[in-house]
Amino acid sequence: TFDSCNSIDSKLCDLVITIKTTKENHETKLKAIIETWFTLVPSKTFIITDEFDEKISQLTNNHLINTTCGKTHNREALSCKLQHELKEFSKHASRWYCHVDDDNYLNIQLLIEILNKLDYQKDWYIGKKSLTSKMRVFYKARHFHFSFATGGAGFCLSHSLFSKLSSYIDDFVKISNAIGLPDDCTLGFIIESLIGVDMIENVNFHSHLEYLGFFNQGNLKDQISLSYNLQMNNYVNIFSNKTSQNDQTK
Ligand code: UDP
Repeated sequence: TFDSCNSIDSKLCDLVITIKTTKENHETKLKAIIETWFTLVPSKTFIITDEFDEKISQLTNNHLINTTCGKTHNREALSCKLQHELKEFSKHASRWYCHVDDDNYLNIQLLIEILNKLDYQKDWYIGKKSLTSKMRVFYKARHFHFSFATGGAGFCLSHSLFSKLSSYIDDFVKISNAIGLPDDCTLGFIIESLIGVDMIENVNFHSHLEYLGFFNQGNLKDQISLSYNLQMNNYVNIFSNKTSQNDQTK
């Protein structure tokens, strides 16, 4: 079973996932997750949000974590939520920690297969690059160049890397403000520039910034994460294996 994680065990569990969401999406995007891949990993998945919701809390066996982060899409609110996701990770002894947004569909079986092939005792920062060139920042009188894994596609950190990241969690929002960049860039900056570990790209993580119409019956099963943007008609129908290009039914 995928769902054998018990953080009280001295044995490390294999995977802990946090989902970043906001109250406005509880009944829509978050519900879609709770009804699909969440059911495979209910005891390992924690939801970080900005307003308590009794219904969601009950549905997830109290895995809804409320924060005092802002309910907006601004940098500080989103960095505050990623900081809470990282704090949640630190409560669990796990080989792997993965973040997703609330519009991500996770192929749990494939994710676990891929992570299990890697050594969690080595430093791994795995995800999808959203930019081809490196970000540049000036921080504490030094110039830094770094890549980051786009938060909208989901990313994973190994136990070993997470141990090194732990000491930066309390200052996460402060660092994000200092470099003036969003949460996912801030994480990339801390890991690549301050800790010195390079991000490893896995192109099978996908955000809604990508065109998702490339997926078909042949390659859908190889994708680790998917996303959607219904306004832009950019989505994949995983149940019929049709894409927005050839099937307009949702
Ligand atoms: N989000 C949030 N507060 C908001 C808007 C969005 O916490 O006011 C979260 C949302 O739940 C999602 C993530 O931020 O997990 C990214 O949101 P979205 O996909 O709307 O934005 P984009 O990825 O295009 O920046």
